[in-house]
Amino acid sequence: MYSWLTPVWQPLLQGVREGRLGHALLIKGMAGLGKGELAAELATALLCQHTSNAPCGMCHACELNAAGSHSDLHVVGREGRSIGIDAIRELGRIMSESARLGHGKVAIIERAELMTEAAANALLKTLEEPAGQATLILVSSRAERLLPTLISRCQQWLVPLPATATALTWLNEQGVSATAAALSVNQGSPLQTLEYLRAGADDKRLTLLAELVTLGESPSHLARVQSMLLEQPVHLVWVQLLLQDALQTGLGVNAPLRLDDCRDQSARLARLGAMRLHELGSALLELRRSLQPGQGRPMNAGLQLGQWLHRLQQALTHY
Ligand SMILES: [Zn+2]
Repeated sequence: MYSWLTPVWQPLLQGVREGRLGHALLIKGMAGLGKGELAAELATALLCQHTSNAPCGMCHACELNAAGSHSDLHVVGREGRSIGIDAIRELGRIMSESARLGHGKVAIIERAELMTEAAANALLKTLEEPAGQATLILVSSRAERLLPTLISRCQQWLVPLPATATALTWLNEQGVSATAAALSVNQGSPLQTLEYLRAGADDKRLTLLAELVTLGESPSHLARVQSMLLEQPVHLVWVQLLLQDALQTGLGVNAPLRLDDCRDQSARLARLGAMRLHELGSALLELRRSLQPGQGRPMNAGLQLGQWLHRLQQALTHY
């Protein structure tokens, strides 16, 4: 269990041991906080045969759960782009059957926001029927996309973002050297930051941003910067954060920088002036929006990004 989950895990566990958890729970919070692991551990505790000491780790149910083969646990939504009505109907059928081990049944719907409208409505029907000893656990990083009627039927549990110090301590225990900036570009998620650091993406970020701010002196780097930026949508987010820092620096706002390891770079960009930084920031935001999937007409990402970089380069040459 991740250390930052303790504030949510303890009351949940108490609820299991005292038998006063709801029949439908929603575990929500940002992606990359281990909500899936929390749900799985909760399922183990609910199915444990020694309720007052759940999860005991020793009973038959706990052993089956450790092996991932407990027949009273049903998980939906781990794969695929959406969760359809068939999967939810099957879940309803399984939940209505009696428990094989006689200690209740648990269903987990991971990425619950991926339920189609028909699936969500079918789930509502399931929730209206007497639940018996069945518990439904919805897990979502986009809970705002769930039907309000569905949310209102669930006991809600929010997994909060860990404090920066907690996240950094945990990351260092995993053997990576993490910085507040690395955490910041991953929206504070320790698990995403770990993946990011292990993939070597932090070095890439530092190289990319260093080259970006020297485009004025080294225009020949433009093609390389452009191809680095096109590799992943998140690379544009790095630039956006740097622009925000530059704006903050330029305005003399005394607040922590998002990328405190790119102080020189944001100071350099700050010289462009608030007006120009604001324009560049808005144009970049617009560009990022148009690059999102499902935005209708196809567009040439390379061309638009090239134009934006050209604007930046001009600004850096003439400020
Ligand atoms: Zn047990």
